[in-house]
Amino acid sequence: MSNLPDPHASLRRHVHNLCAQFPNTYWQQIDAENAYPEAFVQAMTDAGYLAALIPEAYGGGESTLTEASVILEEINHSGGNAAVCHAQMYIMGTLLRHGSPEQKAHYLPSIAAGKLRLQAFGVTEPDAGSDTTRIRTSAVRQGDHYLINGQKIWTSRVAHSDLMLLLARTTPLEQVEKRTHGLSIFLIDLRATVGNGVTIQPIPTMINHHTAQVFFDNVQVPIENRIGEEGQGFRYLLESLNAERILIAAECIGDGRWFIERAVNYANERIVFDRPIGQNQGIQFPLARAHVNLRAADLMRHQAATLFEQQQPCGAEANMAKLLAADAAWEAANVALQTFGGFGFAREYDIERKFRETRLYQVAPISTNLILSHIAQHELGLPRSY
Ligand SMILES: Cc1cc2nc3c(=O)[nH]c(=O)nc-3n(C[C@H](O)[C@H](O)[C@H](O)COP(=O)(O)OP(=O)(O)OC[C@H]3O[C@@H](n4cnc5c(N)ncnc54)[C@H](O)[C@@H]3O)c2cc1C
Repeated sequence: MSNLPDPHASLRRHVHNLCAQFPNTYWQQIDAENAYPEAFVQAMTDAGYLAALIPEAYGGGESTLTEASVILEEINHSGGNAAVCHAQMYIMGTLLRHGSPEQKAHYLPSIAAGKLRLQAFGVTEPDAGSDTTRIRTSAVRQGDHYLINGQKIWTSRVAHSDLMLLLARTTPLEQVEKRTHGLSIFLIDLRATVGNGVTIQPIPTMINHHTAQVFFDNVQVPIENRIGEEGQGFRYLLESLNAERILIAAECIGDGRWFIERAVNYANERIVFDRPIGQNQGIQFPLARAHVNLRAADLMRHQAATLFEQQQPCGAEANMAKLLAADAAWEAANVALQTFGGFGFAREYDIERKFRETRLYQVAPISTNLILSHIAQHELGLPRSY
């Protein structure tokens, strides 16, 4: 977005060209039918973009996090919605960093080749909400397998995935020293378990997000499907969250750019009172401010990604990037809607669809208040508030 040379210009152009095959009318129809954009996800898979973070040794692109973030940014910048496939990128780290050599050799080549999709992560539960350590889904060791019982909510793309990661309690909360202990991560093969103890119940939502409740009823999962050590799942989860925050920030930047470009074009073309509406400062200034805020958020996104790539601590920057970018995208969405006037509400202009879609990032994958609590406590040294 800056005037500095863009080292990712070629990648941007390629993603842009692919996305151009899926114009706004495609996304409008998918949204109206509440359908899954299968053709788009397949095209992204075939181009290797969804395997960007998988090492070359397993057939992936071995891209940096910044490159992965550029792919997602350009999807949203094109008018599409990367949420239909982004999780494959941000949950990959858990398997890459903590999976056993056997697990990686077994799953990664098939994921990289597009034969398997790993794009669902079940963390949230109805009664625990943001207080993840209070989840109740349990995995009880019985010989060579675990028996899983419980319920997840908001498990997105689970009906369009072959595999999912699941966070479950392996030691009851009452028996652990620290509440973050006793949680473990499992790789669930949905092909074998849906209809065999796993039940998926879609949740109708204000956006087309393919999210669902997932019920586990005595589901047998072999011990070799546990990722990493038993009881360490919360630590693994936290490690993957920085990547997730940075990738989501990039999507928000893509949304913001889309809103501002569309609104500027419209403001230049729409004539009211014999002048383009963009000539009025009442229209110009909010657009200029939204642009300034977006550019600033983009700097934090790149700083967080650079720290991540250098394996430096980046929890604060990743959270700040996500908060700033989500706010900037939401500001841009509001400004665009205002600029379009009544036409902003008409489906054919896409503003209302993208407006609904970008609003999600104030709440998921982490809500703004929880980021602020993190910054207050860990950056500023204020007392823990919960
Ligand atoms: C469309 C969609 C897709 C999702 N996809 C996934 C997914 O794929 N996998 C997954 O595991 N989860 C997913 N989620 C869940 C999402 O991560 C949670 O909705 C989010 O983290 C907020 O949790 P909650 O809804 O339980 O809200 P709650 O925890 O009930 O919080 C409600 C409100 O209270 C505020 N609040 C709570 N506690 C505090 C506090 N101590 N201080 C200040 N404010 C507080 C919150 O910020 C929030 O605004 C998805 C959610 C949505 C809506």
